[in-house]
Amino acid sequence: MLRKRIFIGGIVQAVGFRPFVYKLARGLGLRGWAANTPRGVVIEAQGAPAKIKIFLEALKIKAPAASRIDEITTADVPLKKENKFVIRDSIKGAAATSVPPDIAICKDCQKDIADKKNRRFRYPFTNCTNCGPRFTIIKNLPYDRAQSTMRPFKICPACRAEFGDPRDRRFHAQPNCCPVCGPRVSFIYKGKAAGGLEEAALQIKRGRIIAIKSLGGFHLACDALNKAVVARLRARKNRPHKPLALMFGNIKEIKKYCYANAEEERLLKSAAAPAVMLKKRRDIALISEGLYTFGVMLPYTPLHKILFDILGPAPLVMTSGNISGQPICIDNNEALDDLGDIADGFLLHDRKIHNRMDDSVLFELGGRIHFLRRARGYAPGHITLPSRLKKPMLALGANLASSFCLGKDDKLFLSQYIGDLDNAGNILYFKETIKKMQSLLNVRPQIFLRDAHPAYYAAAYNPRALKVRHHLAHALAVAAEHDLRRGFLCFAFDGAGLGADNTIWGAEFLEISRGEWRRAGCLKPVKIFGGESATKDIWKCGLSYLLAAGFKDAQIKNILRVDDAAAALGASRAGLNCYTYSGAGRLFDAAAAILGLCAQATYQAQGAMLLESAAARALTKTYYSFVVEEKGGLIFVDTAPLIRGLVADRRRPAEAAAKFHNTLARIILTAALKLRAREVALCGGVFQNKILLARAQALLAAAGIKVYANNILPVGDGAIAAGQLYAKYAGFV
Ligand code: ZN
Ligand code: ZN
Ligand code: FE
Repeated sequence: MLRKRIFIGGIVQAVGFRPFVYKLARGLGLRGWAANTPRGVVIEAQGAPAKIKIFLEALKIKAPAASRIDEITTADVPLKKENKFVIRDSIKGAAATSVPPDIAICKDCQKDIADKKNRRFRYPFTNCTNCGPRFTIIKNLPYDRAQSTMRPFKICPACRAEFGDPRDRRFHAQPNCCPVCGPRVSFIYKGKAAGGLEEAALQIKRGRIIAIKSLGGFHLACDALNKAVVARLRARKNRPHKPLALMFGNIKEIKKYCYANAEEERLLKSAAAPAVMLKKRRDIALISEGLYTFGVMLPYTPLHKILFDILGPAPLVMTSGNISGQPICIDNNEALDDLGDIADGFLLHDRKIHNRMDDSVLFELGGRIHFLRRARGYAPGHITLPSRLKKPMLALGANLASSFCLGKDDKLFLSQYIGDLDNAGNILYFKETIKKMQSLLNVRPQIFLRDAHPAYYAAAYNPRALKVRHHLAHALAVAAEHDLRRGFLCFAFDGAGLGADNTIWGAEFLEISRGEWRRAGCLKPVKIFGGESATKDIWKCGLSYLLAAGFKDAQIKNILRVDDAAAALGASRAGLNCYTYSGAGRLFDAAAAILGLCAQATYQAQGAMLLESAAARALTKTYYSFVVEEKGGLIFVDTAPLIRGLVADRRRPAEAAAKFHNTLARIILTAALKLRAREVALCGGVFQNKILLARAQALLAAAGIKVYANNILPVGDGAIAAGQLYAKYAGFV
């Protein structure tokens, strides 16, 4: 006989881990107990050595889908007299170290709500130990019903019996409820109470826009195949082109419209149930015009599932229920006020959403995930450092697609995606979320970090915070995630960030090693005309790059065909309203404008996304030339030949766009070889472009260079906060 004390750390609470341990131990005839502690799950198991060995193996490989084991330690302890295996009460203590993310409805609960004889038939708040709301309803840790927004719902005897039975799937399922005791939906149509889910479904079928209170906030939903209602939604939301997320009833229906490989399918069906960017097989009007992808997800709450059971599996638009630029609505009255001019009806319910949360959006490449937006199903989540932080810290992140990062002990906790901090509503959301996360994780930060940009909101939030350069933070976010302690070369490509020389950077080749960093090169600076307006009037980027490449006024007017070109050229030649820019974001805009794909962007990165989608239609492996100049120990890559190539090929935009992507990948390879890099990090918003990322990765890998990117943190500025915190941890500031 043998007795082991086993500690398991990671995401092991509120994910059905103890019932899993219980069943496993009982199945093997082991004795002992399992209990939650603030740091993880502790088990004592006693039995024959062979059985203990199987037990330890199975703990790792058969753990519940929503769990994540970060560490297992075992120790021999003296034998004890016991006659069975039990689940003990939680061992209370200091604050817990992890907050469980929300989990999509599981297979068993799907069966329950589809079964007419089940007491939870079509009950939209059905959940169990393996699924259901977590972070969005948790007010305090440890996670139990009384500390969540389930508190007002007094549990009924039937639900209580399930809750107390270790053999039941709902054993210790904190939000366990049923039609007798749980939350209820109500449907408001044209200002009046109008029934429930069935009536809401009927109005969607009739072509109405319905605001639906979901898990982390409101969605605006409508029939995605009804062009008239999608057009109405776009008009009312003042969102002419930005792609709309789709929800499909099942994977089979998704595959009618999209290509999904095994890995993408696994992600769609995973516990996090994110929106996954998939290549279109068949287009749907007005959903993501000009783009080669749809952002799609599967129903992740029982409420969604029931809607599709009523309506059939055809796609619904499921876009964030907010006024453009504002945070997603979470409160019934807030939604009725804010979305009153957009939605025809409101499907509400009476459980409060405590933590506001958008849908996560990601794409898959080579078995790895790349987040465009990291929120529901993943947040808060954490990265474990190799050693402890000396003091608790708060890093405030960037301004657009902002998020923050709390550091405590050896953990970096990442907030969900918050949004653009130039917006008052998002600033409130940012402040409110910092407060909530600090109290939830019991962190009192003593060190603050922020971006060096003086106009970012973080500068106002805490003027004394330590400053970390934007692109250094991008690079260190990759280092934090992959534990890159030796030197590496980073390509940080994005829209714009304030550089160390106070010009605008954004296509940086940075050498990083042990607390030191150096700008080793960049794209050759270009004068961009138009200030901030150039990010919207992207023809101004085209004009600026054409000027830099030596084109004459008449040629430029002929290429761009915009009315204001003459005045802009005059101002630009005089150097008025221009800034020096060495980034990549505006180069993509310029290319999109030159190829006639987009002159004016109505949403962020529209030019780059249209350019990528054009490239997806061509197969060419050829690329344009570029010039590498070396000056004062720095590499400058002149893209003027690339611009001239685009102009020459502009009658074949797909091929030109593909060659553009190939050229940038080739520039990255050339710089990596010149700088003799062995390990390379690719980061920054520009790498939200899957084609560029794939091509750069392939070229580097073929040259024997190891490539890293952000797979836990978002690809773009959502990674900045973690990078800032790591800068302090690793001695860069
Ligand atoms: Zn379930
Ligand atoms: Zn009940
Ligand atoms: Fe950035």
